[in-house]
Amino acid sequence: MRTLVIGGGVTGLLAAWHLQKRGQAAELWEAEDRPGGWVQTLPWDHSDGRPGHVEKGPQGILWQPGTPVDRVFKGLDLAVESPVKEQGQGQRWVGKGGRLIPVPAHPVKLMTSPLMSLGTKLRLFREPFVKPGPPEPEEGLEEFISRRAGRGLAEELLPAMVAGILAAPTHLLSVDALPTLRKWESHGSLFAGVRKNGVSHLMVPQGGMGGLTARLAASLPEVQVARKAERLERLPGGRWRVWGGGEEAEADQVVLALPAYAAAELLAPHAEASAEALRAIPYTSVNLWNSRHTPLAPFRDGFGFLIHPPEGNSYLGSLVPSWIEPSSCAPEFMQLRSFIGDPHLWGVRREERPTWEWVWTQIRRWVPGLSEAVQTREDRAHQAIPRAEKGHRGRVRTAVEGLPQGIEWISNARFGPGVRDVMEGLEAWVQER
Ligand SMILES: Cc1cc2nc3c(=O)[nH]c(=O)nc-3n(C[C@H](O)[C@H](O)[C@H](O)COP(=O)(O)OP(=O)(O)OC[C@H]3O[C@@H](n4cnc5c(N)ncnc54)[C@H](O)[C@@H]3O)c2cc1C
Repeated sequence: MRTLVIGGGVTGLLAAWHLQKRGQAAELWEAEDRPGGWVQTLPWDHSDGRPGHVEKGPQGILWQPGTPVDRVFKGLDLAVESPVKEQGQGQRWVGKGGRLIPVPAHPVKLMTSPLMSLGTKLRLFREPFVKPGPPEPEEGLEEFISRRAGRGLAEELLPAMVAGILAAPTHLLSVDALPTLRKWESHGSLFAGVRKNGVSHLMVPQGGMGGLTARLAASLPEVQVARKAERLERLPGGRWRVWGGGEEAEADQVVLALPAYAAAELLAPHAEASAEALRAIPYTSVNLWNSRHTPLAPFRDGFGFLIHPPEGNSYLGSLVPSWIEPSSCAPEFMQLRSFIGDPHLWGVRREERPTWEWVWTQIRRWVPGLSEAVQTREDRAHQAIPRAEKGHRGRVRTAVEGLPQGIEWISNARFGPGVRDVMEGLEAWVQER
């Protein structure tokens, strides 16, 4: 059986890799001139020419031994490292009430942290005794957390965490926006789920996340870049022809490893209901400002900080890539990556793109001791993150059920937002076929 995978982001590359491992020939088409989608490490040299880099998307991946993520890295023979080299490194903070508050590394210490009110902390003790909710109807994320752990947690801590992962306000989202939560609840409670599944660790391939997609692409014999699929044609006998970039290819099966809106365009002439459901999945844009500074303790050995919305005025927080992957900049500097959310989602009136001056004012409010940047760089992540709003499960179901014979759609909009979710979802997807 010949398969054509459309889309060379991590989802498409992994799908082709899994198929190849099962002995199925798979050709892959990628619209851009490099595979990887959001998972790419881009060069960003210092002004004196010394090398450095920025991540286009993820800074790292959540890993645990014996999981699909672990199996992918082992299968690719790709070493990953934890940035934590010494105890106490990797501190995270939440900006709240005008100051940065450390997030305790151990849940027990959360009980003495000013991050939450006393009532919220006491309510957490009841979580293990709250019965799991029915699988349907789909709950909102805020409702799910309130039901399990209390309204206080949903209001006092969740918004910053969710903004840091999904760049979207919690009240809009479905519980399916973070699929791990329902997986944990299936063990009886979130506490039981964490106990049973263990805690994941942030890992990075040496040299950056781009090492993952580069290694995947190198393991595949048929990767065509600068080849954007433009049209699908149904052939007699259930086969498909795909047109793009002046070329055409025939396949028994076409796997659309594309954002929902891109898959909708190709599907519209053949599966209107499916295309409509995909078009209804919104995507969030983020502005990313990278900057280099003189290192400042304790931030230089920390993961970074998130701002409790709406205090940041759509500034969502900053990570420290030079701690996560030290080769991102020369050792005498510290690299920051600051996230600015879509102003419309955060109720902020701003038509212009945020300038570095605006971003610097926000950062300095939280870290007044930080020196001026010696270098800055702006990257726009346009329509980058699928927003699993309430009703997402129904949209995905309609999209998948309405696919014509011989066409599949896979994406982080289907499996979950992170690379880990994609790896877990794809392993199950391959086994079901
Ligand atoms: C700023 C940012 C930070 C992130 N941080 C993290 C993180 O810390 N941890 C984590 O786990 N995840 C993170 N993510 C999410 C992670 O990057 C995504 O889950 C993952 O990259 C999605 O991969 P994908 O292949 O599904 O989609 P994409 O990466 O969007 O790939 C789709 C590919 O299809 C191609 N394409 C589109 N149309 C066509 C066409 N018609 N023909 C051929 N090719 C086409 C595109 O060019 C693209 O390469 C982050 C994402 C962003 C944007």
